[in-house]
Amino acid sequence: DDRISRISSSIRVIPDFPKPGIMFQDITTLLLDPKAFKDTIDLFVERYKDQNINVVAGIEARGFIFGPPIALAIGAKFVPMRKPKKLPGEVISEEYSLEYGTDIMEMHVGAVQAGERALVVDDLIATGGTLSAAIRLLERVGVDVVECACVIELPELKGRNRLGDKPLFVLVT
Ligand code: IMP
Repeated sequence: DDRISRISSSIRVIPDFPKPGIMFQDITTLLLDPKAFKDTIDLFVERYKDQNINVVAGIEARGFIFGPPIALAIGAKFVPMRKPKKLPGEVISEEYSLEYGTDIMEMHVGAVQAGERALVVDDLIATGGTLSAAIRLLERVGVDVVECACVIELPELKGRNRLGDKPLFVLVT
């Protein structure tokens, strides 16, 4: 697919960000190429438009860039999954482990209903800790997580294995 190669070549890699040894995959350069950005959204929409998905859950911060256009195109609501103490209403929280220490993800109570079908969206999967926390949070309130979708997968970190039996769809490896 020539759309995939355009998307792949529009992603910039920045060495030693945010710390030495990390090769940071920077999707802001993909956003500068309107064709690559549109192709990214189109590929997700083609996959999810006929799957009766009611909820697109986007993970802060770059899931807030890719999630909403997908949600609008497939007729689903968009639910932000945020860092702690950002959402103003009552929240439910899920703790998850990072390389050093832990973090917390939060979602508004009442944003989703039991039985709804969700797609979880982020820019990138590394260890899978972030996506697995989002899955747990949604499943705790009875939501059926249909799939996770990312633009980029770093396969050597085996994050996919942390998602259990949950399918993961990625555009670029
Ligand atoms: P994980 O929880 O280890 O899978 O890390 C994934 C989370 O970290 C996602 O929310 C990503 O946005 C972020 N992340 C990790 N590495 C990168 C990168 O190279 N580029 C952009 N985001 C990254």
